[in-house]
Amino acid sequence: MKVFRYKKELENHLKELKKQGKTIGFVPTMGALHQGHLALVKNALKDNDITVVSIFVNPTQFDNPDDLEKYPRTFETDLTLLEDLSPDIIVFYPDAQDFYDGNIVSQTFDFDGLEQEMEGKHRPGHFDGVGTVVKKLFEIVQPDKAYFGEKDFQQLQIIKKLVEKEQMPIEIIPIPIYREEDGLAMSSRNRRLTKHHRAAALFIYQVLKQSRVLFKKESIDTVKNFVKDAIGAHPYLELEYFEIADEKTLKPVTQKISGNKYRGFIVVYAGEIRLIDNISLVES
Ligand code: AMP
Repeated sequence: MKVFRYKKELENHLKELKKQGKTIGFVPTMGALHQGHLALVKNALKDNDITVVSIFVNPTQFDNPDDLEKYPRTFETDLTLLEDLSPDIIVFYPDAQDFYDGNIVSQTFDFDGLEQEMEGKHRPGHFDGVGTVVKKLFEIVQPDKAYFGEKDFQQLQIIKKLVEKEQMPIEIIPIPIYREEDGLAMSSRNRRLTKHHRAAALFIYQVLKQSRVLFKKESIDTVKNFVKDAIGAHPYLELEYFEIADEKTLKPVTQKISGNKYRGFIVVYAGEIRLIDNISLVES
């Protein structure tokens, strides 16, 4: 399996492949890979001649230095997991100094307000960091298709906005949330949960599913209060926010309009670990 650390070398390698008319699928990750990431990679392998996976714990998108320091890094295991899917996968494992030309800072972006909601409010600068790293990665890899998980639904909408605004000819492919058997959304951060907090964390999806049932006949406020009370009553969980928002604008919803698509978005602390999840509130 080919692993590139320096952007110029990857660019040169991909240039040759593009000359041969090969299509490129791209999956950006921060590593500590799990089956959720691998679902994205499997889709990329299916749709494209060449699949590029980046593994980069990008410093500019962390608003909390402790979170950056403790973020799990399992590069060797990641390579084995990818190799098992296909030895032809190209891995980009950037050297941060080379990637940022020695200047590790974010650009600022205007994503038409998408960046101001939810995660934007709670993690200042996060989406500037995400925009910066993904734009640079797209410029280097120049993929035909790029794969993003619905687990980070706000991020997915922001990346769609990024390619629209920057006029990049890249198709963004959304992939549904991949869950553990008990319903907890897979996340690299899950491996940092204590035994008690891991057991408690499955409650998050149970509450989300109940919120979907309630949403059919109850008011927005009733659903929000239900989630607040349910998580609030759990001894091992602490709610950061639960929001019901329009899928397109991500603006909080006060009244349901038929035909619009809504989602419930939740962030919960299980001990030190910040867990994010969401659920579609319209039946598919
Ligand atoms: P991360 O490494 O956490 O930055 O995630 C890399 C990509 O994998 C992002 O597009 C995530 O939305 C996606 N992803 C992470 N966890 C899951 C999951 N459980 N199901 C689907 N996609 C996921």
